[in-house]
Amino acid sequence: MKNKCFLCPPEFNNLEFDLEHIIPNSIGGRLKSDLIICKTCNNDFGHNLEISIAKQFDVICTTLNIKRERNEPPKIKLKTKEHADDFTIFPGGKTERSIKTRKIGNKEYLIYYSSLSELEKLKTQISKNREIVSEKEITEGIPGEVQKFHTLLFGFSTGNRTSYRAIAKMAAFYYLYCGGLPELIHPISGYIKGIYAANIVFPYSPESYINPPPNLENIQHTIFLTGDFETKLLWAYIELFNTFSYAIILNRNYIGPNIKSNYSINVMTGEQSTTFPPIEPKLPQKPLKNYIPDMQCRWKYLAKLVNQKLFFHNIGYKLGNDMYDYTKGTIIDEKIAEDLSNKLFSNEGSGFQSI
Ligand SMILES: [Zn+2]
Repeated sequence: MKNKCFLCPPEFNNLEFDLEHIIPNSIGGRLKSDLIICKTCNNDFGHNLEISIAKQFDVICTTLNIKRERNEPPKIKLKTKEHADDFTIFPGGKTERSIKTRKIGNKEYLIYYSSLSELEKLKTQISKNREIVSEKEITEGIPGEVQKFHTLLFGFSTGNRTSYRAIAKMAAFYYLYCGGLPELIHPISGYIKGIYAANIVFPYSPESYINPPPNLENIQHTIFLTGDFETKLLWAYIELFNTFSYAIILNRNYIGPNIKSNYSINVMTGEQSTTFPPIEPKLPQKPLKNYIPDMQCRWKYLAKLVNQKLFFHNIGYKLGNDMYDYTKGTIIDEKIAEDLSNKLFSNEGSGFQSI
């Protein structure tokens, strides 16, 4: 009877299990368990949730070059408002225009280049496609000007339902990995599968974060799990990138044994640890929404690191800090960013709820 798939209906007896990352590998997670879900469920739910969390944090993972088990983080494409020309961010933060030549007149071209050899190459390319070309017809962009051309603000959501499901999955799977009983957190499987919505995941900044503010040597994901027989509460605290922090309520009427477990991975060095933090997170008495500004303070540290990488490659991007859904590729200008942060603090439509 042991080793039933956590996400399958009880009558199913799927014996083919899949190796599953507790924290998605796309954001640097390495801890794996092979007895939690079957291959079918991993294909049906696991991959979708993994993609959702990977997209949510892709700017951070690609810019900071957070290593996956096999591949590098993917290139990311961004659009500019002015010309709808694509920019591409490469792993490590190098940024290039995807479209490097733009026709600006009948026989005139604007060329964006980062070195003289690249300029020569682009000139040759243009010549090949045209019957007549002369030096005069080519307007050369100056790298310095190109870099000042755009200020991009882009933010991302920490609060859409799919990403909450992915967060719940990390907490539930960690509990099971630690030897927890599936029947004590059974309702969570429906939440992870998206069958029902419930107040399970909350953005939550505790009084003291487990990890210090992120720097380029220390960016961690941490899961802290507590099951308390007396308070009847089974919950997990998850901190991603030392910044995005959540409380996940796994069971409000917990009747199992006392549990306490901690796992951290430094995604910059690959170092893993199970040492307990000096100050353990506790659930607050106050509504959780009061704790959101702390997460915003943390986000500034992380945004600074990402900016540092982009500035290193001489591109003047800025990172916004909204916590709302938006379609990747949308330009969020100063005005939109301001509106979004106002909305965040008025808690309107943010999906943040108190418990
Ligand atoms: Zn299954």
